[in-house]
Amino acid sequence: MNPPSTYDIIVVGAGPAGSLTARTAAEHGVSVLILEEHEQAGTPVYCAEALGMPGFIESGIEPVEPLIAHKTNKVKVFAPNGKVVAITHKEVEGYVLNREHFDKALADSAEEAGAVMMNNTKALGVIKENGVVVGVKAKRGDEEFELRAKLVVGADGHASVIRRSAGLKRYFNDYGITAQWTVTDINIEEPDANEIYVGSVVPGAYVWVFPKSKTVANIGLGIRHDKSRPAIQVLDDFIANNPRFRDGKKTRKTGGICPSTGTLDKIVDDGLMLVGDAAGMVIPLSGAGIHTGIVAGRIAGKVAADAVREGNVSAERLAEYRRLFDESWGKNLRDSRRMLEIADKLSDDDMNRVAEIVRQKDILDVVNGRNIVSTTLKIALRDPLFSLRFIRKIL
Ligand SMILES: Cc1cc2nc3c(=O)[nH]c(=O)nc-3n(C[C@H](O)[C@H](O)[C@H](O)COP(=O)(O)OP(=O)(O)OC[C@H]3O[C@@H](n4cnc5c(N)ncnc54)[C@H](O)[C@@H]3O)c2cc1C
Repeated sequence: MNPPSTYDIIVVGAGPAGSLTARTAAEHGVSVLILEEHEQAGTPVYCAEALGMPGFIESGIEPVEPLIAHKTNKVKVFAPNGKVVAITHKEVEGYVLNREHFDKALADSAEEAGAVMMNNTKALGVIKENGVVVGVKAKRGDEEFELRAKLVVGADGHASVIRRSAGLKRYFNDYGITAQWTVTDINIEEPDANEIYVGSVVPGAYVWVFPKSKTVANIGLGIRHDKSRPAIQVLDDFIANNPRFRDGKKTRKTGGICPSTGTLDKIVDDGLMLVGDAAGMVIPLSGAGIHTGIVAGRIAGKVAADAVREGNVSAERLAEYRRLFDESWGKNLRDSRRMLEIADKLSDDDMNRVAEIVRQKDILDVVNGRNIVSTTLKIALRDPLFSLRFIRKIL
């Protein structure tokens, strides 16, 4: 049986942000259709698959196998000179996911709440009438058709066709291009530790090694500044030059784009909301967007359902979503962007010095986009001469 062609809300994209939006809206009693271009939510995987405990809790599902591959309790940051700053704190306790299972579980939970899933269906763009978004043009196989809704939610990732066709931002002013191999048959001495390598190995970003077990890890990197060489070549060189990884078997290759700007200025319009990567909701310094997408989806789903029930889906009404998201993550994302701009100015020598004076809580706060300004000040005060030299350099 074909689902009806009119819904209260159409959510485009069954990633974490879309599924949480759909689930929450359905829980609040409105009819929801999810369009997903792939056969199954979560595949193919474009992700290093790390998610902290708070993000998992926020998703409302249990951290069980096969959704999770591995538990992590530590982050080891490698400075350019090889010095390791290790963070072992309860708060960093998190997981390396099996993202295909995790995303599928979130999509299933949206369906259980009452949302209708339409897989293998690609949205081609929004339909607008008198400047208001009233539906979506879509394609399934060779068939093109229109679907109407009171509200459309673009949860279709960084390249969002919904955002672009609605006349909102075409693309992000700053982004990282990533590449990743899942490497098997390696020996990871501390499989409970995620590893991060910073410095001129990839200026403006970092290399990650996220273990999925004692012998398997996602090894990847992002490039932001110098895009003259493909990210995969830079990654292949990193692996070939690292005696710990070079004899491993490269199995799954993936990659993609990570927006680095923070949330876009305009994420709602008449009859339209954007969530997750489509709205730029990625932590600029880390490139992580699962947790923020989940939070945004929960807020967006509730506001969307309320707005539909009130019969007012104007941009002014939907701005409540922006306000509530900003209350929970807005400042963190803005501060994280500022921190990224400062990190851009650090030379390898500066990073080596920072590695001497930084403490584990500082890194936790910075990576999670919390207390960025006060943390930066605290670090700076531990070596005022170095800090003055650095400030002079960036001014
Ligand atoms: C290589 C890499 C590694 C990463 N590692 C991490 C990490 O370790 N931890 C972390 O937190 N974040 C990570 N991220 C970022 C994270 O993957 C995203 O922030 C997150 O997936 C955003 O969720 P989302 O629901 O907004 O979008 P997505 O997960 O991108 O989901 C979008 C969905 O929309 C569907 N879609 C797209 N276009 C259409 C269309 N036209 N019609 C219908 N469906 C459509 C897609 O198929 C997809 O299912 C990584 C990103 C990359 C590229």
